Amino acid sequence: MSSVSEVFGSMVFNDAVMREKLPKDTYRALKKTMKEGRSLDPNVANVVANAMKDWALSKGATHFTHWFQPMTGITAEKHDSFISPTGDGGVIMEFSGKELVRGEPDASSFPSGGLRATFEARGYTAWDPTSYAFVKEGTLCIPTAFCSYGGEALDKKTPLLRSMEALSRQAVRVLRLFGHDEVKKVFTTVGPEQEYFLVDKQMFDRRKDLIFTGRTLFGARAPKGQELEDHYFGSIKPRVKAYMEELNQELWKLGILAKTEHNEVAPAQHELAPIFTTTNIATDHNQLTMELMKKVALRHGLVCLLHEKPFAGVNGSGKHNNWSMSTDTGINLLEPGSSPYENAQFLLFLSAVIKAVDEYQDLLRVSVASAGNDHRLGANEAPPAIVSMFVGDELEGVLEALESGAAYDHHENQVMSIGVHTLPKIPKDSTDRNRTSPFAFTGNKFEFRMLGSTFSISGPNVVLNTIVAEELRQFADELEGAQDFTAALQELIVRTVREHRRIIFNGNNYSQEWVDEAQRRGLANLKSTVDALPCFVAKKNIDLFTTHKIFTQAEMYSRYEILLESYNKVINIEALTMLDMAKKEIGPAVTTYVRELCDTVIAKKTIGIDELAEQTIAEKIAKLESCFYKKIASLEDALCRACGKSDALALAQYSRDTIIPAMQELRAVADELETNVAEDYWPMPTYGDLLFGV
Ligand code: ADP
Ligand code: MG
Repeated sequence: MSSVSEVFGSMVFNDAVMREKLPKDTYRALKKTMKEGRSLDPNVANVVANAMKDWALSKGATHFTHWFQPMTGITAEKHDSFISPTGDGGVIMEFSGKELVRGEPDASSFPSGGLRATFEARGYTAWDPTSYAFVKEGTLCIPTAFCSYGGEALDKKTPLLRSMEALSRQAVRVLRLFGHDEVKKVFTTVGPEQEYFLVDKQMFDRRKDLIFTGRTLFGARAPKGQELEDHYFGSIKPRVKAYMEELNQELWKLGILAKTEHNEVAPAQHELAPIFTTTNIATDHNQLTMELMKKVALRHGLVCLLHEKPFAGVNGSGKHNNWSMSTDTGINLLEPGSSPYENAQFLLFLSAVIKAVDEYQDLLRVSVASAGNDHRLGANEAPPAIVSMFVGDELEGVLEALESGAAYDHHENQVMSIGVHTLPKIPKDSTDRNRTSPFAFTGNKFEFRMLGSTFSISGPNVVLNTIVAEELRQFADELEGAQDFTAALQELIVRTVREHRRIIFNGNNYSQEWVDEAQRRGLANLKSTVDALPCFVAKKNIDLFTTHKIFTQAEMYSRYEILLESYNKVINIEALTMLDMAKKEIGPAVTTYVRELCDTVIAKKTIGIDELAEQTIAEKIAKLESCFYKKIASLEDALCRACGKSDALALAQYSRDTIIPAMQELRAVADELETNVAEDYWPMPTYGDLLFGV
């Protein structure tokens, strides 16, 4: 095997490759375009395309595709081969600048939330030159944005790029005030930690619920779960280790900085974390990571489950979105620094985040809302549905002192004055971090912990970038006009902390006391997806996104529609899958077992045995069985009544209030049956098989 440094990025048309393969002036023109975000000159595009094609052919590629991220949350590709007929019966391999820059995938079946009428259904894709092209499975993939002909975003990439622009614009204004004229651009950076489960493929194939919905809809608890905490960070089993090694190789080839891997809390649960990078690249990379996790698993006879809650009773899977802002000169703006001057700038950016999270709690909550994530948030394994922030004791002390004007350092009796005094050391050590907070400051970045494991990280980062951009805009507006900058800065920070202090909570987010306290503080508690989604189109949020040109109002409504529809579809598929399994698999299995018991009872009676334990069991199961069929009928009835609802929000509310409870009741009886039916009769692998079978 070649060394990691040779493998790393070997399938990526990255900067080093461009410099080597492109004529000097083409390279320079391309870099300029990438830096300034303008469109590529057609002549330059032709040269780049040709070099890219030659490179891709040398990597074994035969096809190319515009690789994009439609609203389905996964990636899409439509392959075209490079071949072009020569007229003498042969072919040559061709790839033009036009094909590189713009594609027309005729992708009319992707969700558009009403943005496209079918007669103008074709969208187009446009190259995002800030994200490198790569070769995956014999295809040159060109990362692109996906838009309608009217220019409306139909994907998850376009608004992300727009939000990064918006944040950069405002952050650069603020940095000017601190004299940083050298900074031309500010990037947000993200490192997403990805959790997942691995199960044996043969067992997976025997569970329709896993096949159709990605999670188990039935299943009694195994005698053992995660209570011994013996899996977390435990030694990795050989089969899993082999999987992780191959996965790393595949990720490294694509230039993905896969760094950490370990076992997670639940049995069969694992985590992979990359080193952070620029947000749009991190988003592309996380999509590729999820795709490869699934593909590589199959090569090992495994299936990778990315669902937020594959198993009841053990932890589900999330994704921690570590987020910060960094200048093009390499300065992390959430690094507290060591001089009073650096500290002042840090405190201003920190205040912007505090104000943003408080004012747009609802949007952050919406950005992590899904049917799957509803099983986690607030279930004592993930942060609650209430958004709050953890800043740690040291910063808390500073903020308190700033707010009250009191001494923050009791030993020196010093009153904190911005731009004069230095902050205490803020530890980056992870040991004393609050693990229950949905949004935690971890030394030089924030960790947004509410994302579900299947999520594209685009949505949450669009929100984060935009809400912070908005606060920075307000700050810049205010400070640009100030006579005495330091005094105005001090006043602004103190006022911001005072007004938005309620969002800061350093205690245990899993406790009931916090739920009560949050209510007293007036924080939002949007318990389910259905509660959260309508907030997306609240006036203040439409104003926010339209002001910063992230979404038009039409784009927002289309996204709202898509999210509601997707919630309704997920619940419907789950309910239908349950009915299918209940009627075709579980019911008949129970019947067979009861018959076996009854036959035994009759046989015993004919030869005069009057110890009839089987009769007691048969009676118990028969009772459960009749209850089971009643629950099937109730769920069927609930689904029938759903058919009449044409309004997406009304249907979602109905799903939450009627269909989901009916599903839960059916499951409860089925799980009770499972514990009473002999193993040989149960028609599918159990929790014990799935969770401990690898
Ligand atoms: P843990 O949360 O498990 O203690 P770390 O603190 O080392 O782990 O980092 C978690 C993730 O945060 C990693 O993906 C890391 O690359 C990322 N990270 C570190 N610094 C930044 C930053 N400035 N911006 C964004 N992500 C970061
Ligand atoms: Mg973490």
